Amino acid sequence: MIDLRSDTVTLPTPEMREAIARAELGDDVYGEDPTVNRLEAMAASMMGKEAALLVPSGTMGNLAAMLTHCARGTKALVGSQSHTNLYEAGGASALGGIVLTAVANTEDGELDMGELRRELGTPADDHFAQPSLVVIENTHNRCGGAPIKLSHMAEVSDAAHQRNRKIPLHLDGARIFNAALALETTPKEIASGADTVSFCLSKGLGCPVGSLLCGSREFIARAHRTRKVLGGGMRQAGIIAAAGIVALTTMVDRLAEDHQNARALAQGFALVAGLNVRPVANRTNMVVFDVDGDADASRRFAAAMKERGVLISPREATSFRAVTHHGISRADIDRTVAAAAQAAGEVFGD
Ligand SMILES: *Cc1c(COP(=O)(O)O)cnc(C)c1O
Repeated sequence: MIDLRSDTVTLPTPEMREAIARAELGDDVYGEDPTVNRLEAMAASMMGKEAALLVPSGTMGNLAAMLTHCARGTKALVGSQSHTNLYEAGGASALGGIVLTAVANTEDGELDMGELRRELGTPADDHFAQPSLVVIENTHNRCGGAPIKLSHMAEVSDAAHQRNRKIPLHLDGARIFNAALALETTPKEIASGADTVSFCLSKGLGCPVGSLLCGSREFIARAHRTRKVLGGGMRQAGIIAAAGIVALTTMVDRLAEDHQNARALAQGFALVAGLNVRPVANRTNMVVFDVDGDADASRRFAAAMKERGVLISPREATSFRAVTHHGISRADIDRTVAAAAQAAGEVFGD
């Protein structure tokens, strides 16, 4: 199967399995796992922060960040199309009593600055839940994997960090290495205006599990407690961290291949009648496309792709997402485009 549903389907590389087998271990709840400590130091340095914390998932990274930053009854300002708003099961509200407040995302994944500034300007009046955090996502998953420009990152950071009322900024950098590659910069630069940043090892970087939350030493010490509350304090977590170290040393540069493959896929799909690729100014590893016809035709198209050995992920009723990753070769892209031409001919042709 050519599995384009997500970059989370990636399997660990042989080198990761080797590193997992050889990992030096200790009890990480006591801070004594040397492999976890090494990974956390690497992550902190790559993100330009003082400290980092290994957590089981990106969702827990964002949740631990929100629970650590925000008091109950205060507002976390999140993008309307963001992962924190749509795909984290309302965890910040359910577990932290945080008022998740959506700020409109533009089509290219930026935050609507007018709306953000209005929320940030909420009067310090007892009637109003007070803003306590801004969350920004880069790359922006739901907006076609778009990398968010440094100029917008800085604008959001400046708006949050007003002189009289400094609201912290958390960056959901699940795919920050994809963003850095597309923007021709470093994760450190992207995260420079953010107080905290989380990123995933388990997506394009290919690890079986794991994310890192990075920030100041003081913040990470508090997040360590939050992680325990959430049940995310793991013991010999070095078996996870070992793969993470391999990921950060061997899997970052190769993301360029995924971006090239996604561009080739978008170009290929653009020539298939019945498919309409959503444009992304600076494509990373995702292709979102709409299909002609109704929801039923759309389901038949996905089934026809599956019959030909290609899995894609449904989004809205008549749109799909295809994600490239290290399990996908250039030959797979060519086979996928050929399969799409046949499937579209079958379903949308007359
Ligand atoms: C995948 C993802 C997450 C969450 O990661 P999980 O490890 O799946 O919990 C958070 N934010 C974004 C933007 C993501 O794409």
